[in-house]
Amino acid sequence: MSSKERLIIFDTTLRDGEQSPGATMSVSEKIELALELELLGVDVIEAGFPIASPGDFRAVKEISKVIKSSRVCGLARAKRTDIDAAIESLAGSQQKRLHTFIATSPIHMTHKLKMSPEKVIEAAVDAVKYARGFIDDIEFSAEDGGRSEPMFLAELIEQVIKAGATTINIPDTVGYCVPHQFGAFIKQVISNVSNREQAVFSVHCHNDLGLATANSLAAIEAGARQIECTINGLGERAGNAALEEVVMAVNTRQDLFPLETNIDAKRLVGISQRVSEITGFAVQPNKSIVGRNAFAHEAGIHQDGILKHRETYEIMRAEDVGWSGEQIVLGKHSGRNAFMNRLAKLGIHFESKEGFEAAFSQFKRVADQGRGVTDQQLRMFLDKATVSVDV
Ligand SMILES: [Zn+2]
Repeated sequence: MSSKERLIIFDTTLRDGEQSPGATMSVSEKIELALELELLGVDVIEAGFPIASPGDFRAVKEISKVIKSSRVCGLARAKRTDIDAAIESLAGSQQKRLHTFIATSPIHMTHKLKMSPEKVIEAAVDAVKYARGFIDDIEFSAEDGGRSEPMFLAELIEQVIKAGATTINIPDTVGYCVPHQFGAFIKQVISNVSNREQAVFSVHCHNDLGLATANSLAAIEAGARQIECTINGLGERAGNAALEEVVMAVNTRQDLFPLETNIDAKRLVGISQRVSEITGFAVQPNKSIVGRNAFAHEAGIHQDGILKHRETYEIMRAEDVGWSGEQIVLGKHSGRNAFMNRLAKLGIHFESKEGFEAAFSQFKRVADQGRGVTDQQLRMFLDKATVSVDV
């Protein structure tokens, strides 16, 4: 047993991720991904929003039947009809969570809900109490929490914990917060909740300003112990915090975040590719962790450094997140060391220095014209007279 504190990973690829315009998934695709998420080691799988559509209801119901080691979660507004639908869809689950929410920012309470802050607290408390009559694991989210008044939020949270909520999620629904401010905000809210020890605090950050992962990490520092995220950062608008980024930031910077997750990082690339295939959303090549160039070094100085001592330019190992094969791309920026290394891997050795130099010049000419030199191209232009080939 490790003595490290646990960081709970709550994946919402199947719910918030699917809310990306154009990323609709079929029920069978959702079941397949849920099984992958379970293998990945996700603690909580948010499987859908059961009242939203018959498809969502069915997805939560079917996923509840097949998932054994992760908790399955269904979303519901703070309304009994929503909660009833979620409870019904989760009935077959071995470990279930009900997630209910209501907006708490002045702008949402006034213009969307048209409810007074007192009425919002009442509705939140009623929803949590009602849901707790059926399910023990209740998460409450303060929608648009990032733009809410901290003292009002603390008061509301204290009430919903009293009503039985076991996880309190504070989302930056609109992706407006910035790390140092969000961290201070989360700290202020948590410290003003007198019964804070009775619940796990969580955040759910959106990426409208490209800060979802950074805000999630700031919240961890402020005391959050659950992060809501998605594979490839899929989600509404600019998306959610990317699971792979949060997990690898924690794994790589254990000096700053001495927490452990249950994630099997070697599965990150595989599940990223599967999500991309299913949704049709390509992963940009320079995407952190799971982009095809995330570990590909082309600059000659970098390649030389990597070949001599990997840690010179790499903070993570490609194979630790599931990449296999060559991560050095031979291109016009590659140097002699990388070129020779690749030839050796192909079983090609030079008998003379001149031969090698001639081949290297030729490689540079070819590389200058294209995007990267493949092993096949290398074999084709090498003068057989100057090399010997291992068989
Ligand atoms: Zn969201």
